[in-house]
Amino acid sequence: MSDQERYRLPEELRMTRTVVRDFIRDQIVPLEQDLEQDAIHLPEEDFDRLAPMAKEMGLWCMGVPPEYGGAGLSIFAQAVLHEEMVQHRAGLYLPAYGTMGSAPPEIIFEGSDYLAETYGMPTVEGDRKAFFAITEPSGGSDPARAIQTRAVRDGDDWIINGSKIFISSAPWADWGIVFARTDPDSRRGITAFVVEKEWPGFSWEPIPVLRAYYPAQLFFDNLRVPSRNVLGEVDNGWDLLANKLLARGRIPYSAANLGVAVAAHNLAVEYSKTRETFGAPLATRQAVQWMLVESEVEIRACRWLIWEAAWQYDAGEDFRQAASIAKVHSADILGKVVDRSIQIHGGYGVTKWLPLERWYREARIRRIGEGPTEVQKMVIAREILNPGGPPR
Ligand SMILES: Cc1cc2nc3c(=O)[nH]c(=O)nc-3n(C[C@H](O)[C@H](O)[C@H](O)COP(=O)(O)OP(=O)(O)OC[C@H]3O[C@@H](n4cnc5c(N)ncnc54)[C@H](O)[C@@H]3O)c2cc1C
Repeated sequence: MSDQERYRLPEELRMTRTVVRDFIRDQIVPLEQDLEQDAIHLPEEDFDRLAPMAKEMGLWCMGVPPEYGGAGLSIFAQAVLHEEMVQHRAGLYLPAYGTMGSAPPEIIFEGSDYLAETYGMPTVEGDRKAFFAITEPSGGSDPARAIQTRAVRDGDDWIINGSKIFISSAPWADWGIVFARTDPDSRRGITAFVVEKEWPGFSWEPIPVLRAYYPAQLFFDNLRVPSRNVLGEVDNGWDLLANKLLARGRIPYSAANLGVAVAAHNLAVEYSKTRETFGAPLATRQAVQWMLVESEVEIRACRWLIWEAAWQYDAGEDFRQAASIAKVHSADILGKVVDRSIQIHGGYGVTKWLPLERWYREARIRRIGEGPTEVQKMVIAREILNPGGPPR
């Protein structure tokens, strides 16, 4: 049978997938037994032991181009490996606890050499940490309209005033990319700036949410930013934002949803075979089997949707509709699969002894973060009704 008749993952990717699977199962999952349920960091000595192993395996910062110290994998390969990387308790938001690298927002490498060398590369090396800030108190679904943070030129610098909300990783980061309005008369007059948390005029507060890895609200009060920290062209941040950052990011984001769904499903399958009620294992009951079947069908369909989006991206096609479809479906099935797995585990499902409880909470964010389901559906509907139409 030829490759065209039956699709198989390329052999090298299958081998790498096994390496990642083994790394998570043998190195990360056992460590989690001794951590508290909501832990967001590994003990330092474990991190320092594991990170070099991941580097050795050639898996450090998978999506970052090799010239900047990453593995430079295709989006498709990243999607396949991401599904494995997240299969542990903290995996949805902290895959492998960063032991396989914490990449900066990859658009940093589309700016000047100065920005790549000052911010991008030290972040790939693990010496710095980054956030990216789009959402504002005025709204996140429609950033082109909602961004009110203003940047005004002052000599060779820019002065930023405004606020960003729900910014992930900002509490632990030391720099980030902030999108601010530079042309108040244009919906698209947005520019990306690289800012440092230590600079005068920058402050932040934690926002308590249902995951321990809490986001922050950022405040800019006459924050002075040198011109060399403009990322890309002035007034052209929308292109970076909409086309390069947001849409592409939905593919690994969806793969993470899928991976956690797979992990939750596997727990349910195993438990149903050993837990007995009324004299027989749960797995013998049709009601339980059908729950397992629904999860299995949803997981398999989801994987192909993600792969389709990834293939389109790698082929240079317009992948935005496929990425939105993958995002909507994966966020939806993640919630459903975790919910069914909890149901099959009965009372144990909601204890903090199992990862299901944490996944159940964290999964809820996935239908809101990275563009809510309803907004993704707008993108999908636009393409159904007007195929190949202009981007928004
Ligand atoms: C834990 C967490 C971490 C986050 N991390 C980041 C980050 O790192 N950086 C960042 O920039 N942002 C981040 N966000 C923000 C996230 O992207 C926004 O919350 C999201 O885009 C929605 O924006 P909003 O909350 O302002 O909701 P709104 O835009 O006010 O929308 C509210 C709700 O209305 C519905 N809705 C919106 N538009 C439509 C429509 N046209 N038709 C029908 N229904 C609609 C949706 O259900 C939506 O959830 C994070 C959010 C959370 C919760």
